[in-house]
This record gives sequence, structure tokens and C-alpha cells, in this order.
Amino acid sequence: SQPVTSEIFTDHESEVRSYCRSWPAVFSRAKGVWLTDVDGRRYLDFFAGAGALNYGHNNPALKGPLLEYLARDGITHSLDMYTEAKGEFLTSFQELILDPRGLDYKVQFPGPTGTNAVEAALKLARKVTGRESIISFTNAFHGMTLGSLSVTGNSMKRAGAGVPLVHATPMPFDNYFGGVVEDFHWFERVLDDSGSGLNRPAAVIVETVQGEGGVNVARAEWLRALAELCRRREILLIVDDVQMGCGRTGTFFSFEEAGIVPDIVTLSKSIGGYGMPLALTLIRPDLDVWGPGEHNGTFRGNNPAFITGAAALREYWSDDTLARDVVATGDRIATAFTEMGETHRGLSHRGRGMVRGLVFDDAPAAAGVCAAAFDAGLLVETSGPSDEVVKLLPPLTIGADDLDVGLTVLAQAVDEVLA
Ligand code: PMP
Repeated sequence: SQPVTSEIFTDHESEVRSYCRSWPAVFSRAKGVWLTDVDGRRYLDFFAGAGALNYGHNNPALKGPLLEYLARDGITHSLDMYTEAKGEFLTSFQELILDPRGLDYKVQFPGPTGTNAVEAALKLARKVTGRESIISFTNAFHGMTLGSLSVTGNSMKRAGAGVPLVHATPMPFDNYFGGVVEDFHWFERVLDDSGSGLNRPAAVIVETVQGEGGVNVARAEWLRALAELCRRREILLIVDDVQMGCGRTGTFFSFEEAGIVPDIVTLSKSIGGYGMPLALTLIRPDLDVWGPGEHNGTFRGNNPAFITGAAALREYWSDDTLARDVVATGDRIATAFTEMGETHRGLSHRGRGMVRGLVFDDAPAAAGVCAAAFDAGLLVETSGPSDEVVKLLPPLTIGADDLDVGLTVLAQAVDEVLA
């Protein structure tokens, strides 16, 4: 057959395609932190499927159980029937993640991907409280379906969808006004001001670190104040851990560091471990008011992803080795960013664990750095309201040598663009 070239995509795929515009290669294979294209060129992956590949590509500890499962004709599709694979996943999740953290949640498999977990969370919060509106934050990203898009604070992403489907009130995220916890006085004033039209909200939905929004980190005390406000006002707290969960920030759940316990949690991306779609909505048991079949769908759970997801939990979350590595690797990235900032005035950085953002003055500079990095064989992408932040999300399992190679390439790209 003919070799695959990019023309097949530019000629026939919708104009909505995006990442492939920054990285116009045709990729064919991947292992660990390396991708290979059809011409045999290799690329270091510091994007990791937007956080869906925390354990790298084709990780052998997950691939073995997957191949074995397929070889024994394990079930691949089963709607939401009970399966052995789902049982193994739930057991591992309970024993390795929830129990050791003293967390008590029912698990819903709401559909294949992150936005499905958010939709279920929003629907459930409205059903439980009988209230309609949701509070979300400036620069939040929660997904591209109409409900999750309604709570997404990015006008470009919302542009195609018109009027929000869910009545959502945006509030300033931490640091929006310079980072004082007293911001919540203003928040409470608005909550009390029913005369101006703010309905009493069903829930607040928040990311602890806004990934798509430009690596905006909420401080632990801000999250605690938010959780306390929600508790006092009987507003449900939803933490969207689709991107920051599964270890990205240095703990399995990103909210652990703040010591808060959300009422509802969304997980997806790396929860299946191997880059296959899987999403979870975690529900405080007394809030699990769903009736059978009230939120159904064909792909609710993915058996091969249950196998790799359970294998990932066993391999990486039976002890705290990975979590400690994430903190150490994150510090190395921060050190490299600090050095870049010393050479180039005005360049700042922010992040937690292994999500790190290098903040440029404008989008062209950030885009130029990503393009120069790509030319040198490194995949990094931009984020932020104006796409001015180069975001690093390398696989959590990256070794020191590969990390240093990537950081060196990135530093050269920055030098080239800001020279
Ligand atoms: N929530 C957050 C915090 C996300 O980062 C994303 C994806 N970037 C989503 C929800 C939506 O997930 P998906 O793209 O799988 O629908």
C-alpha cells in the first residue's frame, strides 16, 4: 500500500483538527517518552496525550496484562455489565487509592472521556440539590460538550457553541486579583445578592491547577477556603481532576495536598493508564441518587482500559515511589525554568509537580518556541487564555536523561526565539 502522507488528512479531515497543525508529522509508533514518525524521525513527548499518558507510551508493565487479556479472549465491550476486568479495576481502585486515603466514593463510569465525567457531575449536582446554576472559574476548562463547555472559561472554545446550556456564573480563580484569600468576601456578597439574578448554585466546579487555562495554580489555602464556603452554603464541590489527577501534581488526587474532600470528583485521561478512553465520576455515597439507567450510554467503561488501569494502579500506586519522583522531577523542571528566566528577562514560570508552564509575553513567542522545539524533535504545546504559556506535561515515568535532553532542546528553542 501507499505510504501515509499528511495530504490524506489535509484533504479529507475536518478543519477542526488542531494538534496536527503544530506537529505535522505522521506518527506511527511510540515507546516510553519517544514517538516515531513514518519517516523514522524520533520525537521526545513532553505533552503525553494532554495528560492521558502519565505512564508513557506502551509501558511494558501495562502492555503485558493487556496482551494477555486479549490473548485469552477477554471481553472488550460490555455496556455496563459486570465483568471480571471491571471488578479487578474497582478492587484495585478501592484498595490502592480510596482506602489508604480514607476516601469514600461510589464510582460511576459515565462514558468514555473527560467531558462525560463532567456532564455526569453537573447533572448529578443539579439532581441532588434541585438547583440549576453552577459556579465555575475564569480560565477554567472542563470539556467541549454543551454542559461542560458552559462552565469553561475560554471564549474561543465557546465561540462555536453560542449561548451556554447550563446557567454558569464565572468567578475569579485564585490569583486573579493578585491572590488574596479575602477574594471570598466578594464571592459571598454575590451569593447573597439574589436580587441581581444569581440563582443559588447547585455546585462549584474547580480545577486545582488549570491546565488548559495556562497552568494557574490554586493555593492550598484558597482551595480550603473554597471548600469551607461550599460546605457552609450547602453548595456541592466538584473537583475536576481529569488532567491533574492520577499523580500529575505529586499526589494521586490533586486536591490531597490541600486536605479537602470534594463531594464529586471527575477523573479520566490517565486513569486507563494506556491512553485508552476511560472516565470516572466519583460520588459521595449519600449523593448517589441516580436511578438505574438514568445516565446511560454505550461506552460506559472500557474493559481493556480496566485491565491497563488496574495494572497501572498496582505498578505505580502500591507505594509512594512515583509520587516522590514526580515532586523531584517537577523541581528539576522548575530549576531549568528559573535558569531560562535568568537569561531572558520577563520570562516567568509556574506549576506544581509535573505540570509546568513557561509564561511568555505573547502568543507568538510561545508558538515560536513550540515550533522551534518541534523542529528539534520535542513536542510541547501552548495553553492559557491567549496561548502565551508553554505547558510541559511529560510522562511521570520519564527518566532523568530524557528529561535533560528535552529541557536542553527547550532552552535552545527559547534562546532562538527570544534572541
Ligand atoms: N476537564 C479538564 C480539567 C480537562 O483538562 C479536560 C481535557 N483537556 C477535560 C475536562 C475534558 O476531557 P476530554 O477531552 O477527555 O473530554
